[in-house]
Amino acid sequence: MKKSVAIIGGGPAALLLAAFLDSNKFEVTIYEKNKSVARKFLVAGKGGFNLSHAENMQDFVSRYTPQEFLNSALLNFTNSDLRDYFSILGIPTFIGSSNRIYPEQGIKPIRVLKALLKELDKKDIVIKYLEKWIAWNTDGGLIFESGTIIKPNYTVFSMGAASWKKTGSEGDWLSLFTEKEIATKPFEVSNCAFGIEWSKVFVKKCEGSPLKNITISCADKTQKGEAVITNFGLEGNAIYGLSPEIRKQLNTSGSASVYIDLKPSLSIGKILLKLKKSTAKNVSLKLKNDLKLSAVQLDLLKSMVSKEVFLDLDELAKVVKNLKLIIHSTAPLDEGISCVGGIELREVTKLFELYKLQNHYCIGEMLDWDAPTGGYLLQACFSMGVSVAKELNMKE
Ligand SMILES: Cc1cc2nc3c(=O)[nH]c(=O)nc-3n(C[C@H](O)[C@H](O)[C@H](O)COP(=O)(O)OP(=O)(O)OC[C@H]3O[C@@H](n4cnc5c(N)ncnc54)[C@H](O)[C@@H]3O)c2cc1C
Repeated sequence: MKKSVAIIGGGPAALLLAAFLDSNKFEVTIYEKNKSVARKFLVAGKGGFNLSHAENMQDFVSRYTPQEFLNSALLNFTNSDLRDYFSILGIPTFIGSSNRIYPEQGIKPIRVLKALLKELDKKDIVIKYLEKWIAWNTDGGLIFESGTIIKPNYTVFSMGAASWKKTGSEGDWLSLFTEKEIATKPFEVSNCAFGIEWSKVFVKKCEGSPLKNITISCADKTQKGEAVITNFGLEGNAIYGLSPEIRKQLNTSGSASVYIDLKPSLSIGKILLKLKKSTAKNVSLKLKNDLKLSAVQLDLLKSMVSKEVFLDLDELAKVVKNLKLIIHSTAPLDEGISCVGGIELREVTKLFELYKLQNHYCIGEMLDWDAPTGGYLLQACFSMGVSVAKELNMKE
């Protein structure tokens, strides 16, 4: 007789798990509280929709915090395995200029989801909608809000984290695990906008403008990319990837310091030389014509440094390479692209089985790990799903 696998929550981690489970061995049912699955996946698709990131796996695994926890899962189902798999499903992918992996142009997110669901259908995987898991009974069975009670052979929780609650990822299950003495951490926002007190004049003029081709550093980490000036502060890939470091400083001292390099391609020496050799008639024109700083970069410098520093070329060159900004807050939890917190990693084996509950697994964003945007989040969720599937497929 086939054994039963209940997957609680129908996000990307769950879908790949179900797709890779051996349907000759298991009766697989996904229990999803919404009327449809993978709403956050579809939201992700409205933006960049990076399914993964093209880089060698040694660098790839180093993007995650903490290091090493996800290594075996990521190596079990790599970025190129993901491309091969989606291609078999009829979803060819391409590598963009930033090395992000996207579905080929013209392929809408819903088509990607439909291809996955078709695959699940072929394998007779059942999806039960409007089934919200709310508790365990004394017998270890799973109770749903609808009154359904089940006791599967294997249970895999994949209920997501706690941002973009309207997609279903509400994180309201934390207390169910703490009651079982499984350690959890409150959710915190990651890959989010960060609050900066801009001068009124600057933000009025520059709101919505991107700072392009910059790097931002926090503690010992540096992130390349773009960041957009908003009324709240800064957002964009150049700052999202610094979330762990910024959160750490915010949590310990109430504010965080980040440093922008407005001209990463030039050393301080070269910048100073260009400024000194410039024949432009004032400093603004030297920065614009000789350093090719954009209007918003120029406005940012002017709003952040004193007149004395702005007019002192030696000091100005230093600031162009290392402009300090003070961050005072994160965006609200619900606005984050991802979260940290949830089930503490020490509670699960390297194959995501709960030490305290045999045959119960947790995968995806409900575990306490972090990664920058750019495809690393989805790849980790997919890889965890595939790893648990491979593990279960090997069981008697
Ligand atoms: C705006 C935005 C853009 C993004 N862009 C990208 C991107 O380009 N690239 C990338 O890699 N990542 C991106 N992400 C992140 C990515 O979408 C998530 O990391 C991923 O969806 C997490 O997958 P998951 O399976 O862990 O959980 P989720 O996708 O959160 O799914 C969890 C599911 O569980 C269900 N559920 C919750 N509780 C219960 C319960 N008690 N009973 C039954 N069902 C339940 C939920 O309804 C939901 O369907 C983006 C996220 C956002 C918000």
